[in-house]
Amino acid sequence: MRLIFLGSPGVGKGTQGHLISEYLSIPTISTGEVLREAVSNQTELGKKAQYAMEQGELVSDDLVTAIIADYLKPFSEGSGYLLDGFPRNINQANVLDNILSANGNQIDKVVLFTLPDDVLLRRLTGRRTCSKTGEILNIYFSSKEKLQACLDLGGTLIQRKDDQEEIISNRISVYKSETFPLINYYEEKNLLVKVNAESPVAMVHQELLSSLNLNCMS
Ligand code: AMP
Repeated sequence: MRLIFLGSPGVGKGTQGHLISEYLSIPTISTGEVLREAVSNQTELGKKAQYAMEQGELVSDDLVTAIIADYLKPFSEGSGYLLDGFPRNINQANVLDNILSANGNQIDKVVLFTLPDDVLLRRLTGRRTCSKTGEILNIYFSSKEKLQACLDLGGTLIQRKDDQEEIISNRISVYKSETFPLINYYEEKNLLVKVNAESPVAMVHQELLSSLNLNCMS
């Protein structure tokens, strides 16, 4: 199954992505993760992407579509993949369509995760990564025990640079201006399903399975 996850930053695409990837045994290709790794290793790609990422802007289409073309190559055959964070605008969607049709492939479903703005803000401003385990936690929503467990392991709770408040508001406005048009784009292709991302993680996962008609496999 070839899937795209759409939705504002902070809506929980990464968390749901890990679960569905495992469930379907398909890889997740997250342009954000690829770029963050490139920045932390200070590769050529990372150096080019760093400034835009730190400002909450989109990295140039040329860089991102080259990454996707490269990552998709080995998966033109096989059981599929999940694209998390790509495409992010209409131009990227067109490039993706061209790559897919050149391989005789198509997207099966595009999942749009939705959340009210106030919840979104707390998800983003509260998001932390445990430096020891890599687990994604939230100072507002994770239990005290979970937060403490990270500290007890000798870890610290790290905030992504682009999760700081002024950068977050830019990321959300970039999402609204650049990525919103994709909702119509995929609705017109009859590929869009919507999932309310406000419930606890396990419930959202169940809703996601239903929206993909996968309940019978659980
Ligand atoms: P994410 O982890 O998906 O929120 O992505 C983090 C950052 O990486 C974004 O704010 C952008 O700067 C950059 N990025 C990720 N995916 C893309 C994309 N498809 N197009 C342009 N920039 C992207």
